[in-house]
Amino acid sequence: MHLHDVLIAGAGPAGAAVAARLHQHGIRDVVVLDRYDFPRDKPCGGGLTGHADEAFAALDLTLRVPFVPSKIAHVRCGTFDRSVTLGRPVNVIRRIEFDADLVAQVRDRGVEITTGEGVTAVAPDREGVTVRTSRGRELRAKIVVGADGAASIVRKHLIGDRALPHRLFMRELPRPAGLDLGAGAPMLYDFTPMARGVRGYLWVFPAPGDRINVGIMHYPAFRAGGPALLDVLRTRLDELGIELPARHNLGWPVWGYHPRTPVSAPRLVTVGDAAGIDGLTGEGIAVAMEQAQIAGDAIARALASGNVGFRGYRRALRKAVVGRELALDRWLAKLLYRSPRWRSWLSLVLYDPDVLELYAARVDGTQVLADQKLRLWGALWRHARKAGVRRRELAAALPEAVRMLPPGAAS
Ligand SMILES: Cc1cc2nc3c(=O)[nH]c(=O)nc-3n(C[C@H](O)[C@H](O)[C@H](O)COP(=O)(O)OP(=O)(O)OC[C@H]3O[C@@H](n4cnc5c(N)ncnc54)[C@H](O)[C@@H]3O)c2cc1C
Repeated sequence: MHLHDVLIAGAGPAGAAVAARLHQHGIRDVVVLDRYDFPRDKPCGGGLTGHADEAFAALDLTLRVPFVPSKIAHVRCGTFDRSVTLGRPVNVIRRIEFDADLVAQVRDRGVEITTGEGVTAVAPDREGVTVRTSRGRELRAKIVVGADGAASIVRKHLIGDRALPHRLFMRELPRPAGLDLGAGAPMLYDFTPMARGVRGYLWVFPAPGDRINVGIMHYPAFRAGGPALLDVLRTRLDELGIELPARHNLGWPVWGYHPRTPVSAPRLVTVGDAAGIDGLTGEGIAVAMEQAQIAGDAIARALASGNVGFRGYRRALRKAVVGRELALDRWLAKLLYRSPRWRSWLSLVLYDPDVLELYAARVDGTQVLADQKLRLWGALWRHARKAGVRRRELAAALPEAVRMLPPGAAS
């Protein structure tokens, strides 16, 4: 049986980007398998943060599908509303178009991408990895990349048991006739659902074709059922003048990045959602494309040297800007979503003059938040003196706290 250099499971942004990186390294014996045919949809807000610009350039890829550039973010909580201008816009795309175009760009380079055929099992041994597929085929490769998303088979092979996932729900809708998003196609990040028991936020993004993309993210601080989360989403959207249809709202569990969770094993590497999303925001497209470069470089080195252990891969991911930002966001998510003092942390984010601007610069990629610890400490110091006032301001801005989700036990 032919021993391929690399087999990539999944042709989403992570898999397509790894394939593009390997092609840049001159590695040609690469097979990509995806269980779905493209175009296929993927539940997502579609927000490409500023980091994606560099990732596209580094991978020789181009953003060719329609997008809505949004340079303004409204951060809202009850009646509180503050807007932040981003240094570079978040470009909102539709995944059904975006992913299919990435696949097309990679195919144009001659990379073999087989769709409608999923990986069902991986079995590494001393000489390679045997991969079984949903069409009953058996393939062999020196290295297998798990770019197979949140339900990754490769990740399961690496870590087996899992903690509770983040839960996200989204829906794309035609923009309601009376809904004025405001000048500059702003994005809305709304934390009001936290007063109703959600640990996360709701978003309304402008989407191509006069559509909007709405959704909610819930951090796994405690279990929350899908219907209850959708109820909170529906209630708040209703207050914003957006009607959420009762059916066909898409939910998706995703696991947050943890710097100590294994992301590789001999002959196996994970990238993108298979390695974990941003625990604070649920962002992962640019993350996947940034990680793909690190993975592709590590694979090129492994093929050249014959050392396929990938012992340094987790550290390389962690030390790169993307890993440092993910680690910091994981810590911030714990403070904001898991702590019983969430009102105090939320009021820091909302009322401090610096924190939102700092975070906006982290999103647009003009600053590395992990390098701004002094400013973060400064904000914490200010907060120590003002937390009481800010909490009271937040309490006045919040709607009457009608808790819609049960408190439950922290996981
Ligand atoms: C509701 C929601 C909203 C989001 N909003 C945003 C946002 O606004 N901005 C942002 O940056 N991120 C957002 N994310 C996160 C983002 O969608 C993911 O981080 C991103 O899709 C990760 O890309 P990926 O290639 O790792 O995984 P995926 O996009 O999931 O791609 C994985 C691919 O692997 C394939 N596959 C799965 N299993 C197998 C198998 N066994 N064999 C072969 N192929 C397989 C799938 O068909 C798929 O094509 C959101 C996520 C959700 C759920």
